[in-house]
Order: sequence, then C-alpha cells, then structure tokens
Amino acid sequence: MKVIIATKNEGKVKEFRQLLAPFGYEPVSLNEADINAEIVEDGETFEENAHIKAKAVHKLTGLPVIADDSGLEVEFLGGAPGIYSARYAGENATDKQRNLKLLEEMQGADTPLRGARFVCAIYFISEDEKEYCVTGTLDGFIGFEPMGDGGFGYDPVFMIDEDTSLAMLESEEKNKISHRARAMQKLAEELRKLRNVKRK
Ligand code: IMP
Repeated sequence: MKVIIATKNEGKVKEFRQLLAPFGYEPVSLNEADINAEIVEDGETFEENAHIKAKAVHKLTGLPVIADDSGLEVEFLGGAPGIYSARYAGENATDKQRNLKLLEEMQGADTPLRGARFVCAIYFISEDEKEYCVTGTLDGFIGFEPMGDGGFGYDPVFMIDEDTSLAMLESEEKNKISHRARAMQKLAEELRKLRNVKRK
C-alpha cells in the first residue's frame, strides 16, 4: 500500500522511511509522485498546517497521506521561530543561514535562557479516509556554535546535552528520540490497530 509523504524535504522523507518500515506501507515522496503543487500553509499552529498539507495531497492523489509540520520553539525568543522555522531567514535561505541568524538573535542569552524544543505534528489520512493527528516534542537548548554534520535544519545548534548536538547523532539514534519519532510512535499505535500489526 503506497503512502505519500507530503514533504519535499528529503531529510524528513528518509526519517519517515525508517519509521514506517514495519507497517507494510510503501512511502512515496512528493518528488517521486511528481507532485509539484504549491500548498499554502497558512494555519496558525503546527497541527493546522499539517492538516492543510495532508488534505491537499490526499485530494490530488486519492492515496493515504502522511503530512507533518514541525519547527523549533525557543524560550528566549518567545516561542519563535515556531511555525515560521522554515522561513526564519527568508524564503530561499539555507539551513546554515537560519542557524547563524538564530545564534545572532540569541547573543547575550546565557545557558539557562537558551531552552528550546522541537515540535512535530503529524496528520495521517488512511486508505479508508480516517484522519489521525498526533504530536511529539523534544526538549533541549540552543548551543553557542553549530556542532556536528548529521541530520538537517537546526540540528547542529540544538543541544540534547552539554556536549551533544542533534547533528552529532547517527540517524538511527536521532530517530529514537526526535519530536518526529515521538509523534510517529503515537501514530504507530494507530497504524498497528489499522493494519493489524502486532507490537514487537
Ligand atoms: P516544515 O515542517 O517542513 O515546515 O519545516 C520546519 C522547519 O523546522 C525547517 O526549517 C526544518 O529545518 C526545521 N526542522 C523540522 N524538524 C527538524 C529536525 O528534526 N531537525 C532540525 N530542524 C528541523
């Protein structure tokens, strides 16, 4: 059974592939499905944006869809960049530019003020058009310089402990603890029931 992963972010596609492996779904990315539609994500929360994406792609394909919306909330910045995480340094900025902007904005914030969390909302529309919404979070703090070259996005500046950024973890390790993995574990519970797969 094909399931469209409604993202153009290859980093996320890779994570979803690993996470979906046990459930007998064949994940297909938007690029693989040749879907280029511009979907306007104008929701006010991660959940709303994930819902908008899932609905739009389901309407186009008629297939089961998984859409996620995720981002970084930084305490010192009042929860920013939040749902604007992808556009934080402008539409066409690179991950590196976003990380540098974040570090600049954090200047003057000592460690206790650097608390942050990743949030992920996942919307799944099943083959029988049932809708599921789950969320997951990962707490950490913003480092003082980028560290590590794994992962993607804000991983190099997101510290899970004093010495370790998310970008320093092997992808399997990140996939055990990430906000997306935690949301996915909740979705997995639903998929087990839907697909009749026993817990290992
Ligand atoms: P979107 O969910 O595709 O809208 O992207 C949200 C933004 O948050 C992007 O800029 C990502 O780079 C960032 N982001 C989401 N998940 C992660 C993650 O696991 N690590 C690092 N950055 C992330």
